[in-house]
Amino acid sequence: MDLLNTLVDKGLRRELPTRDEALAVLATSDDELLDVVAAAGKVRRQWFGRRVKLNYLVNLKSGLCPEDCSYCSQRLGSKAEILKYTWLKPDQASEAAAAGLAGGAKRVCLVASGRGPTDRDVDRVSDTIKAIKDQNEGVEVCACLGLLSDGQAERLRAAGADAYNHNLNTSEGTYGDITTTHTYADRVDTVQKAHAAGLSACSGLIAGMGESDEDLVDVVYALRALDPDSIPVNFLIPFEGTPLAKEWNLTPQRCLRILAMVRFVCPDVEVRIAGGREVHLRTMQPLALHLANSIFLGDYLTSEGQAGRADLDMIADAGFEVEGTGEVTLPEHRAPGGCGSQGACGSSAGSSAGSSAGSSASEAIPEARTDLVAVRRRGAGTDLAPNA
Ligand code: SF4
Repeated sequence: MDLLNTLVDKGLRRELPTRDEALAVLATSDDELLDVVAAAGKVRRQWFGRRVKLNYLVNLKSGLCPEDCSYCSQRLGSKAEILKYTWLKPDQASEAAAAGLAGGAKRVCLVASGRGPTDRDVDRVSDTIKAIKDQNEGVEVCACLGLLSDGQAERLRAAGADAYNHNLNTSEGTYGDITTTHTYADRVDTVQKAHAAGLSACSGLIAGMGESDEDLVDVVYALRALDPDSIPVNFLIPFEGTPLAKEWNLTPQRCLRILAMVRFVCPDVEVRIAGGREVHLRTMQPLALHLANSIFLGDYLTSEGQAGRADLDMIADAGFEVEGTGEVTLPEHRAPGGCGSQGACGSSAGSSAGSSAGSSASEAIPEARTDLVAVRRRGAGTDLAPNA
């Protein structure tokens, strides 16, 4: 297929596909899906080989958020029966992190619900980062604390944080439909603050919230312009008790097309399969490893993932290998000291779509797999051992 040959060539050169090409990936048929995965897999292997980076989430503070993000089980007014607790102490967070690291993770993601941290919260998280780094040589720590005020990113960097996560989540055009308590511009500003402070920026999206293909392409192009080092791709878990509880819009095939599109648009960036992996990709998870080079091990913030052991088995069975702490995730040109600028990634508009797939996706009707959604009842904030 001309489209896929063009996309592979561009991906190997880190050249930006046209919007039409990105849209055409989302419109491929089920008959073409394995060709799409194989093509995006070539780009993935060029920049990341067969390595899979494992990340481990520690929910430092769960629930009771004053913001109204409609996809979130921790939002204002959420009726989802999630764990609710206030800040974990540094030793509690370090203990949770240690379980993930023992399971094979190399990055710990410290997440707290809320609009953004107070300066006292930054102190608490700084103490936690120090506790984790003191006890685990070589660990990468990412903080995800919401919107940052001036100077907070610098303080987190000084405390030893390697990265900061703040997702754009959806396109600028639809942002106001999912959240009213802050804006898309607020989110962009925080990613830029993290970048400017020397933190590795991590910013991604949530698919499955009722958005169009154009919205998905918009947010992925916006992410490319922001130039994060990692892009988490979440697939909406429609939690009962949230406004999006009925939004079961994804099939495994749709998830694979979305991951392939992200890989083609951001070829040399860490693409991470995030929340909703087990719920929406289901038995197709191993195919997704040909597109993404990173996953979360174990559980998510408020929901349970498959057993950590099953993640490791899946990676091995699919012919991939867990990335070690001594290995550098990003290609040399993006690694610290390399040239990771937008210019280096290229922004050539390239040609138009060429002969695109020509057929729209023959989507199966998505099933509401509420049976696969399990609220987290173990790990941080409980007396039970974490899943790692
Ligand atoms: S996504 Fe973050 S800011 Fe939004 S409701 Fe959830 S915890 Fe609060």
